[in-house]
Amino acid sequence: MTIIETFDFEEIKGFKFGYSPFGKPKLYSHIYFIDGLMIDTGHTKMASKIFNHVKDLPVKQIFITHHHEDHSGNIARMQGHFNCPIYASKLCSEMMKSPPSISFAQKMSWGNRPAYKKIIPQSDFLETENYKFEIIPIPGHAADMVALYEPKRKWLFSSDLYVNSYIAYFLENESTSEQIKSIKRILELDFDVLLCGHNPQFKNGKAKLKKKLLFLEKFFELVSNLYEKNYSAEQIFKELKLKEFWYVRMMSNGHLSKMNMVKSVIRDIENEMKISQ
Ligand SMILES: [Zn+2]
Repeated sequence: MTIIETFDFEEIKGFKFGYSPFGKPKLYSHIYFIDGLMIDTGHTKMASKIFNHVKDLPVKQIFITHHHEDHSGNIARMQGHFNCPIYASKLCSEMMKSPPSISFAQKMSWGNRPAYKKIIPQSDFLETENYKFEIIPIPGHAADMVALYEPKRKWLFSSDLYVNSYIAYFLENESTSEQIKSIKRILELDFDVLLCGHNPQFKNGKAKLKKKLLFLEKFFELVSNLYEKNYSAEQIFKELKLKEFWYVRMMSNGHLSKMNMVKSVIRDIENEMKISQ
């Protein structure tokens, strides 16, 4: 089943789309358009449908928030049509030259993500005709991820920093402590609306992001307390009575799981110890 909806928020256009091999999609992705700027390009599983919805927009530049396939999948097609520059963080522009391979399950749900070698690295600011967006690094979910923030209008395009106040699974290489730091950095800004890559919040965005911060901090604390008692990842999982979403874990071929969250905290602690040694 495929779903596409469009919405307007102030001067911003949002395109919400979702695909699922069975039943209703469980997760949606978004492309935003503001003042000639397209933010992210969606996944290739719905390439033609997405393209038909956005092809008449007056796009002058495209910004990619991070390398994941649901954000970067359609860069080449969009660039070919709009003939405009593509920008991203320096790390994203490097990663997209030869992006990490994606699992069969990811291909099934979101399609493949081809390399794109001509992204122009951009840091600090991105300007459109009427607005100036701050580019803010928010690593954790992905090392190359950035947010775009327009301070005058208080618009925050937060990519995948939020998604939800409670998180049930991580990818293999996510960092919990980096996400905590990134959320704290973003909470210092003045905003209330979260133009999230998957789950926009038009009310109480800041409060919801705070909730996620508390959730991650608590989770980090619980896991690290047991790690200090020499518990293994499996023992911690059991002790905290965590439950795996087996459907998600199975569908993603193990790439998405709650166990990844436990392992992420352990990896963060071990990395921290290496640095301080
Ligand atoms: Zn992502």
